[in-house]
Amino acid sequence: MKKVGILGAGQLAQMLAQAGRGLKQEFTFLSPEESPCAAPFGKHLKAEFDDNSAADNLSQWADVITTEFENVSLALVKRLETSSLVHPSSKSLAICKDRVLEKKCFNNLGIATARYKQIDSLKELQMAMSEIQYPAILKTRSEGYDGKGQVVLSSEQDLEAAWERLLGVQCIVESMVSFDRELSIICARSQNGETAVYPLNENHHREGILRLSLNLESDLLQSKAEAMIKQFMEMQNYVGVLSIELFQIGDQLLANEMAPRVHNSGHGTIEGSRASQFENHLRAITGLPLGEARFQCKTAMINLIGKVPSLTEIQNAPGVAIHLYGKEERPGRKIGHLTVTNEGITESEFTRRFVQLLEISGEIELANRWKVAG
Ligand code: AMP
Repeated sequence: MKKVGILGAGQLAQMLAQAGRGLKQEFTFLSPEESPCAAPFGKHLKAEFDDNSAADNLSQWADVITTEFENVSLALVKRLETSSLVHPSSKSLAICKDRVLEKKCFNNLGIATARYKQIDSLKELQMAMSEIQYPAILKTRSEGYDGKGQVVLSSEQDLEAAWERLLGVQCIVESMVSFDRELSIICARSQNGETAVYPLNENHHREGILRLSLNLESDLLQSKAEAMIKQFMEMQNYVGVLSIELFQIGDQLLANEMAPRVHNSGHGTIEGSRASQFENHLRAITGLPLGEARFQCKTAMINLIGKVPSLTEIQNAPGVAIHLYGKEERPGRKIGHLTVTNEGITESEFTRRFVQLLEISGEIELANRWKVAG
């Protein structure tokens, strides 16, 4: 039986542990939270992430250590690497923790991104805006997620306030991309370099938080996105699951950012693929052959944010898979998700089903968009 240590004990750790049952794996989660939602699925090592003795205990117990989030301290991961197998490596984590380094890595491989400039002072921001046109986005170089640590710049008048709002920390300014679609590509890579790529996802956000992910059958840009992610993972000799968030403009793909972990837009792989992103991450890091990533069926995944809508309504919706993480309701918090598949139904019935779930979960604007399109 393989022992897997996970840094973090939220819903991603929970779904990893659920997938690990079938592989006969055991889990220990390191997290400072009192009763995190993954705790019932393994052992909970309650400690701060900078607690060296807790890290050493985890390291002694585990055959391999992984993480469910990228804001984990690099010092901790480097310490674990001296005595344990750790995937993703501190090298990959360092790339995604710094938006400037991340963009440089993409560009060095010939992968296009939005135009950007590194910003260390208000003066530099003012100068950069002569090259980067408005509208633009000022983002903190590290620690931002779900749209946090970002300010839109519409004109010169916004610069001072934006710089102050981000507290004068190191930033990056990016041109605002007028994209056709937001997509993500997810891939697993094994210890011997074998890969399993999932179908592209089309993602819809509101207030910087993912609301709806549709996985796309035979999208024209699939092979382009596949080549990009394989090249990026190879460059890092990456082991495990990684995702890249993309902007599509016509037939062009720009890389926005990467996440060295299982990704929210890939939750539909639980129902949609023979081996989910969670299973394949575990297979990769424990040295097992990868499972089949290709479609079994198309899926739509809707996040439940802040509160659980009427359970009766959800339970009565046709064909729904309900995933509640057991987290307390709180504004802006991801507390569950719903998935429907197109198995055995027409395309219009599939759309009708996920539009109904969007309505139940309060995403009226998105629901209306699909109704008009349909
Ligand atoms: P991020 O934290 O970089 O993933 O950004 C969160 C969301 O903000 C993205 O999913 C996009 O919807 C939007 N966004 C971020 N950067 C840009 C950009 N350069 N151009 C247009 N939209 C962006």
